Amino acid sequence: MNWYELPDVGRAVVAGVFGLFVGSFLNVAIYRLPRDDMSVSNPKRSQCPSCKRPIRWYENLPVLSWVFLLGRCRGCGWRIPWRYPLVELLTAALWAFAAWRSAPAHWGVLLVQLLVLAGLVVATFVDFDCFEIPDEVSIGGIVLAPVVALILPEIHADTVLAVHLSHGGAIERWPALVATVVGMAVGGGILWGIGWIGEKIYGREAMGFGDVKLMCGGGGLVGPGGTLAALLIASLAASIVGVANILRVLWIVRARVRRRGTSRPFRRSLHTARIVGRYLPFGPYLALGIGIVLLAWNDVRAWF
Ligand SMILES: [Zn+2]
Repeated sequence: MNWYELPDVGRAVVAGVFGLFVGSFLNVAIYRLPRDDMSVSNPKRSQCPSCKRPIRWYENLPVLSWVFLLGRCRGCGWRIPWRYPLVELLTAALWAFAAWRSAPAHWGVLLVQLLVLAGLVVATFVDFDCFEIPDEVSIGGIVLAPVVALILPEIHADTVLAVHLSHGGAIERWPALVATVVGMAVGGGILWGIGWIGEKIYGREAMGFGDVKLMCGGGGLVGPGGTLAALLIASLAASIVGVANILRVLWIVRARVRRRGTSRPFRRSLHTARIVGRYLPFGPYLALGIGIVLLAWNDVRAWF
C-alpha cells in the first residue's frame, strides 16, 4: 500500500499517532539537552526528576499515562507538569497536519518537514525554560538545509528563487542549493544585524546567538522569501505576546499595591512591568514563523 494511496485523514491519523510517541521522546530531549550531565540516551531509563524512581513503560504512554496518573508521580506525588502531555499533543497535531497537507508532495519532503517540526518543538520549549536554543537543533538545521537541498531539491519546489533558476521546470540541485544558501544568509544575517545594532544602542546583548543560528538553519529550509515571512510572523507574534505579558505583570503589580494599601503611582508600576515583562525568549516565535511557512508557504504568500 502506497502512503499517498491512503486518504488524507488516514495519513493524518497515522502521523498523529506516531507524533504522540515522538512528542514523548521530545519531552525527554527538552529536559535533558540543556543539562550537561545528561544526554538523550543517558540515563537509558526515564526517571522521576524528583524521587529518581524509574518510570515503567505503562507510566510513560503519551497523554494517557498523565491522565491515569492524575498528573502525579506514583512514587513521590511530584506534580508532572501539564507541559508533558501538551508537547505530546502539539507534536501529534503538527505531524497530523503536515501529513494531511502533504498530498501532492514527495514523501521525502514530508519526512524533512516532520523532522524539522520536531526540532522546532524542542527549540521552543528549551528556550521557554532556559533562554537558550540547543545547538542540536540550530546547528542541526544549518547542516540539514544544504544536505536536503542536494538530496531532495523538491524541498524548494515553492521557493521563487529556486523555481526561477530552474527555468520553471523541475527543481535542480544547484538552484535548490543557491536558494538554501541565500535563505541562510537572509535569516541569519537579518537577526545578526538587529542584534549588532541593538547592542550598539542598548549596550547589552539584544539578540541571542541561538536565535541567529536557528533562523540561519530555518532560512536555509524555507528559502529567502519564506525567511522574510517567517521573521515578520515571529515579530508580530512576539510583539503581541510581549504587550500581553507587560499587561499581565502590570496587573500583578497593581493587585499587590491594592492588597497592601500603599499609594504607589501608576507610572512606577508601569515602569516595573515594562522592565520585568520585557524578558521573553524570541526562539519560540521564530519557531512559530518557520513552522507556519514550512507547512503553509503558498497560503502565507497568497495572504501577503
Ligand atoms: Zn517521583
